[in-house]
Amino acid sequence: MEMNTSLIFDIPFLSADMDRAVELAFAMAEEKPVTVATPNAEILEEARKNPSLREAVEKADLILPDGISVVLAGKILGCPVKKKLAGVEFGEEVIRRAAETGKSVYFLGAKPGVAEKAAEKMKEKYPGLPVAGTADGYFKDDEKAALRVKESGAWIAFICLGSPKQELFMKRFREKTGCRLHAALGGSLDVWAGNARRAPRFMIRLGLEWLYRLFREPKRFGRMIKIPRVLVRALRIRLFGKGKKDRG
Ligand code: UDP
Repeated sequence: MEMNTSLIFDIPFLSADMDRAVELAFAMAEEKPVTVATPNAEILEEARKNPSLREAVEKADLILPDGISVVLAGKILGCPVKKKLAGVEFGEEVIRRAAETGKSVYFLGAKPGVAEKAAEKMKEKYPGLPVAGTADGYFKDDEKAALRVKESGAWIAFICLGSPKQELFMKRFREKTGCRLHAALGGSLDVWAGNARRAPRFMIRLGLEWLYRLFREPKRFGRMIKIPRVLVRALRIRLFGKGKKDRG
């Protein structure tokens, strides 16, 4: 399948618009079980310390640049991606298409009750959406959670367990869930359920969604410090070349 990618920190991010991303995901999923990762600055920084997370991200079939810092890092490094592709928007476009084509979806993750609510809201918004099942993300037994997805017969699974749990789960069970398309989508179920709100459109357009999240959840500050770190790393590579420290 023809696909444009931009190598950012040696990770091949998809360079495309959202329609193309969704089209690619569905087309590839006809051939084999597909995984979609949505790394942002936090995940990229974490991947430097955690080789299994790094491998899980690298091995994903589609890697979406889910964050302004990834987009800026691409520009700094001279290999820009076409645009930011937010996981939560990708997920909703997949749902729209699933409703049109009758492909069933499993919603896995978030606190008890949230996945059901997200599924209900999405069914209201996209009538005809086949929901194969839902489960919260605080299970003890990963194997059993994956087995329940398989038993549901879902074609698509949204794995929303936070990072690195979601990427590792997806990598481990991609062949075992019976699903054709898996996407790791962080806090998307909270957004679809109406429990968390995305930034207003103008802030998203200005590349300030991170600032909105910081206002809403100041305790994220520690995690968000990784945004400038990614940019500093990109600058260092651009100015001084890639040292050993800069892989990953
Ligand atoms: N979560 C989960 N199981 C866990 C830990 C987290 O299902 O063991 C969920 C959590 O409830 C939230 C999501 O994973 O719905 C991660 O949200 P966060 O805001 O951290 O993700 P982001 O959107 O920033 O990637």
